[in-house]
Amino acid sequence: MKQQSVRSLPPAKIGDPVDEVDTPALLIDLDAFERNLQTMADEVKQLDVRLRPHAKTHKSAVIAQKQLALGAVGACCQTVTEAESLVQGGVNNVLVSNQVVGAKKIKRLVVLAKKAEIGVCVDDADNIKAIGEAARRESVNVNVLVEIEVGMERCGTLPGQPALALAQLIDSTPGLHFSGLQAYQGAAQHIRSYDERRAAIEKATELARETQSLLADAGLACEIIGGAGTGTYPFEASSGIYNELQAGSYIFMDVDYAKNKNQDGSNFNKFEHSLFVLTTIISCPSNTRAVVDAGLKAHSTDSGLPQVHGAQNIRYLGASDEHGVLEIQGANPRLRVGDKLRLIPGHCDPTVNLHDWYIGIRNDIVEEIWPIALFAPDY
Ligand SMILES: *Cc1c(COP(=O)(O)O)cnc(C)c1O
Repeated sequence: MKQQSVRSLPPAKIGDPVDEVDTPALLIDLDAFERNLQTMADEVKQLDVRLRPHAKTHKSAVIAQKQLALGAVGACCQTVTEAESLVQGGVNNVLVSNQVVGAKKIKRLVVLAKKAEIGVCVDDADNIKAIGEAARRESVNVNVLVEIEVGMERCGTLPGQPALALAQLIDSTPGLHFSGLQAYQGAAQHIRSYDERRAAIEKATELARETQSLLADAGLACEIIGGAGTGTYPFEASSGIYNELQAGSYIFMDVDYAKNKNQDGSNFNKFEHSLFVLTTIISCPSNTRAVVDAGLKAHSTDSGLPQVHGAQNIRYLGASDEHGVLEIQGANPRLRVGDKLRLIPGHCDPTVNLHDWYIGIRNDIVEEIWPIALFAPDY
């Protein structure tokens, strides 16, 4: 399979001190990152559920392999391109937790099933038929989950009878294997209050339970009832219904997730910030203002602005394409042109998507350089 590289050169070499990394660059603090992986792996073992972490967060087969090594059963992803790069990187069990529509994409999806166990979510009868035809043409089997609406109001058929009808269609379609239900309550992930998050997942669980039982009465077993993100996974894990958790952001933790509250009202802090945008001060027009080289093209602001790591007195005020404006309260530390700062992204997944490379650091030295998926098989 031919591969095309369409990426920039890495902004550092292994062994470089972090201060010499060119900016803007995406840093992973490897110690914090590894602790996050381990914390989740330990917790799901204790909770007795499976973990299928979401790779839309990291878009990296290297990271997915680390999650598999710690017990994950596979990976989730959101796009066929992500699935291709995971399979190419040796991940042998991938669920596209999303709808795949259109003949070209469906063909790319089913071709992957020649090399790996591939699953996909559906909520439409014609889409099921199209995936079935494509699977038969390529002589493969594709696992299919019926996505049900459990409160997010995104994709997903209604629970109950409409879900049963789709499950029966999948079950009777050669080339497709009915695997279960996708019941992700994405809207609950960033509800700040612990009790409200729990209530939202209790509602979702009830809908999944009713649907599961209707399907069971019709002779259709759900091997997978999948859902959960970093904000709610303990609730799904203890529901007795969900058996596969799809959390993704826990590996990096962003500013938005750190605003969620624990049961006692403290900030959600089970996981550590491990992802940073390294940025350079390119201008210091006054004592109270500095400008960095990380703007909208270096981090995503859809869930709020980044925070400056380790500097309470510096606030990231606003971003334009290639600039970030900082407000400095008090004279110290005196910032100079050329100084480097670490930003904690507001939202990790779309921030990662803006970069080509992870620069993994330990003790302020570059230890790892990992590509962020851009490779796609050349058909
Ligand atoms: C994004 C997503 C997740 C993971 O959520 P995090 O908040 O990143 O932990 C899980 N499942 C689905 C379907 C998603 O889209």
